[in-house]
Amino acid sequence: MRAYNIWPSFPSISISGTACALNCRHCNGVYLRFMEGHTKPEGFLAAAKEHMKRGAKGFLISGGCDLDGKMLNLPEFLPAIKELHDTGAIIKLHTGFADEKLAADIADSVDIASMEAVGDNETIQEIFHLNSGVEKYIETFQNLKKAGVKYIAPHIAAGLHYGQLKGEFRALEHLKEVGPSTISIIVFSPTKGTEMEGVPAPEAEVVEAVVRRARRLFPKTHIILGALRPRGPATGVDSDKRIAIELAALNGGISGIEMPSASFMEEVKRKGMKIKRIEAYGVLPLEYENMVKNYLESEK
Ligand code: SF4
Repeated sequence: MRAYNIWPSFPSISISGTACALNCRHCNGVYLRFMEGHTKPEGFLAAAKEHMKRGAKGFLISGGCDLDGKMLNLPEFLPAIKELHDTGAIIKLHTGFADEKLAADIADSVDIASMEAVGDNETIQEIFHLNSGVEKYIETFQNLKKAGVKYIAPHIAAGLHYGQLKGEFRALEHLKEVGPSTISIIVFSPTKGTEMEGVPAPEAEVVEAVVRRARRLFPKTHIILGALRPRGPATGVDSDKRIAIELAALNGGISGIEMPSASFMEEVKRKGMKIKRIEAYGVLPLEYENMVKNYLESEK
């Protein structure tokens, strides 16, 4: 079991500041407030280089989207992202929708491309406010693959459709053609300040079902439980629910977890599994692990 601690080695940066035109119901731009925001490539590059001087190994680069689901400011930022990448920083980019040209530029500038995988048109239209469909997501993954992005790490939000299971299995089916390096299962969190703050978080069984299906379809792929999940009062759940979700993901067959609780780690030890602690995000390619701090828990 790989246990990931993301901060401070891998800061998250928004390249649109707090701006987002999509205003998805589960987020309403709130997630952007938790990220370091930049709107000018020069300021972004200078700040990122400062982070590197202070010990950062890489970055998650994300931001808000326009009404068509494209990442705001991305074409203008890509040369700066490439320059940062060329200094040795490990870059994971949330791509948004990407056509062939954008995908080719992305392939030149990042290590890991990450994108939501969604398998239901109603979710796409109602939750993401996108006048689009499942095929658009598939097209982006295909474009990234064709462009030669080596590590494609999709994330699937379990229970995003008002806490219920809906298009998750279909999204996983579509990923078979992508050949993902890692699959990140995240979980809908009723986040304060969003339209869906009053919607209950999914039951642990929903999370287990999604992870189990992912494991069945991708027996050899690294599957993680991502940090974006109900993890305490700010995300609308108590610690019992947090632990129930983590243990359900463990039962389903994850091989990694970001920001695990102490109870989760105890259960992993009780099962006799080896634990590798890694100072990075969970989609870090396994071949990159010697570039970051890591150790076997038994050898601490
Ligand atoms: S596009 Fe991203 S940042 Fe904007 S509201 Fe949706 S999830 Fe939040």
